Amino acid sequence: MTTPDPSELTAQYDRALRDYDALVGRGLSLDLTRGKPAPEQLDLAADLLTLPNGEYTAPDGTDCRNYGGLQGLRELREIFSGPLQVPAEQLVASDNSSLALMHDSIVHALLSPVPGAVRRWADEPRVAFLCPVPGYDRHFALCERFGIEMIPVPMTPDGPDMAVVEELVAGDAQIKGIWCVPKYSNPDGTTYSDETVRRLAGMPTAAPDFRIFWDNAYAVHDLTEDAVQIADILAACAASGNTDRALVFGSTSKVTLAGSGVAFFGSAPDNVAWYLGCTAKRTIGPDKLNHLRHLKFLRDEDGLRAHMARHRAIIRPKFDAVERILSEQLGGTGLASWSKPLGGYFVSLDVPEGCAGQVVSRAAAAGIALTPAGATHPYGDDPADRTIRVAPTYPALGDVAAAVEGLAICVRLVATEQRLK
Ligand code: PLP
Repeated sequence: MTTPDPSELTAQYDRALRDYDALVGRGLSLDLTRGKPAPEQLDLAADLLTLPNGEYTAPDGTDCRNYGGLQGLRELREIFSGPLQVPAEQLVASDNSSLALMHDSIVHALLSPVPGAVRRWADEPRVAFLCPVPGYDRHFALCERFGIEMIPVPMTPDGPDMAVVEELVAGDAQIKGIWCVPKYSNPDGTTYSDETVRRLAGMPTAAPDFRIFWDNAYAVHDLTEDAVQIADILAACAASGNTDRALVFGSTSKVTLAGSGVAFFGSAPDNVAWYLGCTAKRTIGPDKLNHLRHLKFLRDEDGLRAHMARHRAIIRPKFDAVERILSEQLGGTGLASWSKPLGGYFVSLDVPEGCAGQVVSRAAAAGIALTPAGATHPYGDDPADRTIRVAPTYPALGDVAAAVEGLAICVRLVATEQRLK
C-alpha cells in the first residue's frame, strides 16, 4: 500500500468529509461499547426463569435452600471441569461474577499470604502486575483500585510477548502477577499458543508468590464449529514444579444470564484451600439454587456445547458483518487493520497512530458510541493512541452494520485528515 499523491489524498478526504456529514445527518443512536449478550441470547436461557421448578435437592442430596456447600454443587462443577481444564475437586462454583472472584483473590492476597508467599501483598513495598496490551479494562481498574502498579507487555499473535514477560518476572520480585485471557482474548481475540502456556508455567520468577490470573472468560465461546483448544495451564504449572502458580477464572455470564450466572474459581489444591479459607469468612455458602437450576438447564458438557452453538448462530452473523464492512470500506487502504476473532466477544481495530481518540469522538458526534480510546491499556492510556475495541454482540444485526459503516467513515476522515497535515 503506497501513500496516494496529494491531489488523490485531498479527493479522499473530501469524499470522507461528505460521507461523514451525511452520517451525522442520519441522526443515529447506536452503541458498540460493552460486550454484553443481546436480548435474544438471554432468551436462550429463558427456562432458567422457571427452574428449578419447585425442586431443591441436588443429585448428591444437598438441600440447596440451606446454608453451606462453600465449594458449590459438585455436579455443576463437573460440567465445567473439562471446559475450564480444572479437576472438579479443585473447582469452586460461586455466585454470579468471575470479576468479583478476581477482585476477591487480590483482596485475599493483600490480606492473607498466598501459599509460598513470604508476606501478605499489603506488606510489600510495591506490588506490580504485568498487563498484556491491548487488554480488558476491568482488569486494569482492579489494579488501580488496589494501588497495584501496571506494567504493559505487548501482545503477539501467540499471546503476551514471552521474551519481555520472562525478563521482567525474573528480575523484579515485586511483580506478583500477570493478567491473562488465554482464549479469544479481550479485545483482540488472540488465543495463546501451547508454547506460550508452557513458558508462562515454567518461567523462573523472582517472586515466590507470583500468580497467573488466568481469566478464561471465553472458554466455550467459539465463533466457528472447530473449537480452538488451549494448553492446560494447571497441568503445565504442575509439570514445571510451579504447582501453585495459576488461578483460573470463568463464568456462565455469557452462557446463560449475564447478571445471574455462576462464576468459577479453580487452582491447585493449596490455592483452593487458601481461597476457600478466606472466602469462608465472607460467606456461609453460594446461591446453590442457582447452581441447581443451571445444572438442570445445561445437564452436562454436551448440553453446554449445544447451548453455545445456539449463541453462535445469533452472534456469528454480527462478527461476519463487522469483517465484511471493514474489508469493503477499509481493506487495502492502509488506514486500518483489525482482528478476525474465532471466538469471544470483541474485534480490535487499529488505526494510524494518534487517531483512535479522534475516531471515537467523531463517531460519538455522529451518534455511534464506542469504548473510549485508551480503555484497552493500563491507566486508560494507549501511548500510540491506536486501538479501538469494537463490541458487536449486543446491538441488532442491522445496527451493528450501520454502526460499523459509520465507524469506517470516521476512520477514513480522521486518518486522511492526518495524512494531509
Ligand atoms: N473477563 C473478561 C475477559 C471479560 O471480557 C469479562 C466481561 O466482558 C469478564 C471477565 C466479566 O466476567 P463476569 O461476568 O463473570 O464477571
